[in-house]
Amino acid sequence: MSKRDYYEVLGVSREASADDIKKAYRKLARQYHPDANPDNKKYSEEKFKEIAEAYEVLSDPEKRAGYDRFGHAGANGQGFGGFGGFGGGDFSGLGDIFDMFFGGGGRSRRGPEKGSDLRVDMEIAFEEAAFGLEKDIKVPRSEGCGTCGGTGAAPGTKAQTCPACNGAGQIQYAQSTPFGRVVQSRTCDRCRGAGKIIEKPCSTCHGAGQVRKTRSIHVKIPAGVDSGTRLRVAGEGESGLRGGPRGDLYVYIYVRPHKFFRRDGNDVVVEVPLSFAQAALGDEVEVDTLDGKTAFKIPEGTQTGSVFRLRGKGVPHLGGHGRGDQHVVVKVVTPTKLTEKQKELILEFAKLGNENPAGVEKGFFGKVKDAFMG
Ligand SMILES: [Zn+2]
Ligand SMILES: [Zn+2]
Repeated sequence: MSKRDYYEVLGVSREASADDIKKAYRKLARQYHPDANPDNKKYSEEKFKEIAEAYEVLSDPEKRAGYDRFGHAGANGQGFGGFGGFGGGDFSGLGDIFDMFFGGGGRSRRGPEKGSDLRVDMEIAFEEAAFGLEKDIKVPRSEGCGTCGGTGAAPGTKAQTCPACNGAGQIQYAQSTPFGRVVQSRTCDRCRGAGKIIEKPCSTCHGAGQVRKTRSIHVKIPAGVDSGTRLRVAGEGESGLRGGPRGDLYVYIYVRPHKFFRRDGNDVVVEVPLSFAQAALGDEVEVDTLDGKTAFKIPEGTQTGSVFRLRGKGVPHLGGHGRGDQHVVVKVVTPTKLTEKQKELILEFAKLGNENPAGVEKGFFGKVKDAFMG
């Protein structure tokens, strides 16, 4: 299988800075994340994998240098550290990539790292979406361990700098390859990249420095949200690593369908059934709106399918001013259970209204009469 050029995949130039690469990657990853493309999962997974692989290489200065010199073989091939996880057909690497993408910490294991972002799906009622709400939601997430203060070492003890890597978490080594001598680095075996060794791990968090806790978080859903709206609650994601800040919490909104209101952007559509007599003679009816019932005048001679507009009775604009409108769609309901007397009157009515009474007898109404009268 031929691979696309990694720079091309991310849409950046060969001179792109690390920052540009990260920006391009985040934008694309967000766009092609399989969760964001439920209708096109297979395609987006393929794209996402390609993007993640390109980023994996181009975000790592050494892998990038290898790729620049030797192409895909230089970045992925033997002797270059390799790129695990994406060779097979499955998508098991998604969790890590997701963390990497949201965590934003890149590959560095030493410095403070921002915590991963979290996603919570929230189902709300039609009216709640229209007018907003405040709610406490339960979010399971990692918290700094209170027993050890996040160090992972048992109280009274301290984590020691790893003697094998001197705290770097990585070990550099030179290797001779057919292309020449290449300096490689690999994760330190002794400390597994942490740079520190904990002799006596904290008994609460078992050395992780973090514990899982379910927190109640107060979220404000603004008026005007709709299904698919994503709200960011800054600083309420997973706790950061080595003193880094918390990630963010993203609340994804799903709006339950309403019994009779339908939403079209900021407009609300509602159907109003009318009898033939109401439509023909006009009437004053009560129409449901988001603000309660309102009296509405149906003019004489209203056709089925007519749409009336109630200004400002729709959904408020998200983060803005004003509201959409309500559209009242008239549906004239044909009666299905008629008494003999009613049938007679309708026939009478048809005859009176028809400009060519002879046609009535021979045409449609004639047949109706046969069917009714036998
Ligand atoms: Zn080490
Ligand atoms: Zn602890």
